[in-house]
This record gives sequence, structure tokens and C-alpha cells, in this order.
Amino acid sequence: MKRALIIGAGISGLATALRLQRDGWRTLVVERAPARRSSGYMVNLLGPGYDAADTLGLLPALRSKAVGVFTTVLVHADGRPKFTVPAAVAEAAVGPRLLTVFRGDLEAALFDAVNTEFRFATTVKTIDQNPDLVRVELSDGTTEDADLVVGADGVHSQTRTAVFGDDFRVDFPYVVAAFGLKDAPEGSATTYIGPGRTAATVNLGPERSSAFFTYRCADPGAELAMGPAEALRSSFGDVAFAWPEKGIPDDVYFDKVSQVVMPRWSNGRVVLIGDAAWCVTLFAGHGAALALAGADQLGDALQRHDTIPEALTAWEATLRPTVVKRQAAAQRGMLQFAPPTRFHVWLSEVTMRAITLPGIRTLVRRAIERQNQ
Ligand SMILES: Cc1cc2nc3c(=O)[nH]c(=O)nc-3n(C[C@H](O)[C@H](O)[C@H](O)COP(=O)(O)OP(=O)(O)OC[C@H]3O[C@@H](n4cnc5c(N)ncnc54)[C@H](O)[C@@H]3O)c2cc1C
Repeated sequence: MKRALIIGAGISGLATALRLQRDGWRTLVVERAPARRSSGYMVNLLGPGYDAADTLGLLPALRSKAVGVFTTVLVHADGRPKFTVPAAVAEAAVGPRLLTVFRGDLEAALFDAVNTEFRFATTVKTIDQNPDLVRVELSDGTTEDADLVVGADGVHSQTRTAVFGDDFRVDFPYVVAAFGLKDAPEGSATTYIGPGRTAATVNLGPERSSAFFTYRCADPGAELAMGPAEALRSSFGDVAFAWPEKGIPDDVYFDKVSQVVMPRWSNGRVVLIGDAAWCVTLFAGHGAALALAGADQLGDALQRHDTIPEALTAWEATLRPTVVKRQAAAQRGMLQFAPPTRFHVWLSEVTMRAITLPGIRTLVRRAIERQNQ
């Protein structure tokens, strides 16, 4: 029985463990955090990500948690409504093969489905490989041998720097924050988009309400050093509707917006997956979908090829064009989430209003379907 050691229990690590375990591998997942990390905003599963959720058998669990398509009210910074995009309109624009779920619900569905050994509060100290195996020294003092090591440790991957010798991260001048709201905000979903910033809340009932912020800034590192409470207050203090009454929770997701652009995702028997290999950023709206699709396709490639390095090369060749497309789309998407000027804000509002017209809606839907083929 082949053995895989997976570093990181995020969406890509759990999906890889699930797929490999179903294919008869023994898997060990090591996670640096002391417990599961179930926080985060909504993620979209569409195109290959939806198909992978289907193949991995996740759809029944996810459907019961799907947030569906909801009515969104676009507002001014002070909360006065500008216009409404009704749920039916948004639904008709995106089509049926889309699931929107909270990241935490996707994490939970994967966690419930996978049957693997986990070691939390554990990370990797050294990785050495020869043509036959990889030897990994863990922070808990143990040493593990594996046929394959999968670095699924996210955008700040230490596996990437340790095995590939560089960071390969491209930072953009934006910061993002997402967290659950203890008190459900008013209305279904409320979004403010202003020059250089977006704030949004979604209210889907108890334990299912969350807030999302992103903004452009000269020095993202300095914003992170300030901490989420101070940084968000100084950029969104005037956007009262989005501000959490009970403060920002400890499990807030607060990070720079970065892409990872690498010439190769594997080296011998070590492979990177998900944000560690190709982070597309939240502006692409496909991070979780690509993590699922990447894990499922990795399983396919490992089944089809005789040697692990051959499988990893073939897998990368299949997946890379999609990643390149998503990274390019994310760079365009930055204009939508943090429009540089008032003119850009106006332009994106015109586009959103246009979706309410049936003819335009059909065009948008066709464009989305084309993109997700
Ligand atoms: C708590 C959390 C909340 C998020 N919220 C959002 C959101 O609201 N919107 C959005 O677009 N994206 C969010 N993301 C990112 C999103 O999950 C990813 O873009 C996408 O799902 C791809 O997932 P991934 O598994 O490759 O990376 P990640 O989801 O980042 O998972 C990486 C995992 O590896 C672990 N790890 C990191 N370093 C090590 C190490 N050295 N050793 C062992 N384990 C390590 C991390 O703790 C984490 O569990 C969030 C990520 C996390 C971890």
C-alpha cells in the first residue's frame, strides 16, 4: 500500500487525503494549527470544482449547506440603498451547476468524509528524498517515510520554500479579511463597493452570517502588522453596516492578497497543491474549486501512470492552463473588488444593473459558462 504524507489540513490537503485514501493509499495529514480551521467566507464551486465535489461524493453534504443565490442590496458607505440585485436575477445569470457554501462547511464536509490519521499542532522540520522514498522529520520528534509528500500548506507554504528554494509569491497591494458574525446583520446580503475598497455582509441565520472586507493599500505588510481590528477600523470605520457589534473574532482570516507563480509544482516525489502551488487569490473566486479539482485530478494521474514523477508531470500539464486562466482573471477582478476611482465604481454598478435585463443576463450567463468549461 502506497503512503502519502500531506502537509496542511485546508481544503486541498483534505481533498487530497480523501481522493488518495479512496484509491487505496495510506495517508497522514499534518496540520500546524492546534485544531481544525473552519472559518472563512463563502466559496463558489463551479466548473471543474463542482465536478470534483461530485466525484468525491461531497454533493449531498454540501447541498444541505448550500447558501443558494440570495438577494443583494448595493449600498452607499452610510448604508443607504443604491439598488437591489434580486436572487432570481443572480440565479439566472450563473446557471444551475454552481454551489455556494461557507468555506467552513466545505472543510467540515471534507473532514467528515475522509478517513485518515491527523496530527494537529505539527509541522515539518526537514524533507529529504531519494528516487525510492521521501523521509520527513516532523516537529513532534517523529520521522515518517512516504512514497509521496503533498505540500498543501497554503499561500505561505514552507514546503515550497524548503523544497523549491524560493517563495514564488507575488504580493498585490490589497488586504482581505473575512469572519463570522455572531449577530446576524439586517437584510439578506449587503454590499458596499467604493473607490479602493469593498465591504459585504451576508445574513443566512444564526451561525451563518459573515462579513468580508478587502481594500487597496500601499503597504499590506504594515496593515497586517497593525492587526485586523485597527486596520479594518481605519479603512472601514465609516461603513457602519458591516462593522461587527461584538468585535472581530479571533479566527478572522486576515491576509495579504498574493498569487503564487512557479515554473514547476513538483520535484521528484514532492508535489505542491492548492494555494501552495498556484494561489489565484480570492479575486478569482476559484481557490476552493481549484483545490478540489486539483486533488481529484492528482488522484486520476497517479492511477494512470507507472511512476510518481511521471504522474506529477502529467497532472501539472493538464491543470496548468486552467490555473493560468484563473490567475489572469483574478488580476482583472481586482478592479471589481477595489475599483481604483469613482468612475470604475460607476462602471461596475452599470454592469450589475444591466444583469437585471433579460437579454444581458443571457449573455452574462453564456460568458460564465464559457469561462467554466
Ligand atoms: C482559516 C482560513 C479561512 C479562509 N477564508 C477564506 C475566505 O474567506 N475567502 C477566500 O477566498 N479564501 C479563504 N481562505 C483561503 C482558501 O481556503 C484557499 O484559497 C483555498 O481553499 C485553497 O485552499 P488550500 O488548502 O490550498 O489552502 P488553505 O486553505 O490556506 O490551507 C492551508 C492549510 O495548511 C496549514 N499550514 C500552513 N502552514 C503549515 C505548515 N508549515 N505545516 C502544517 N500545516 C500548515 C494551514 O493552517 C491551513 O490549514 C481561507 C483559508 C483559511 C486557512
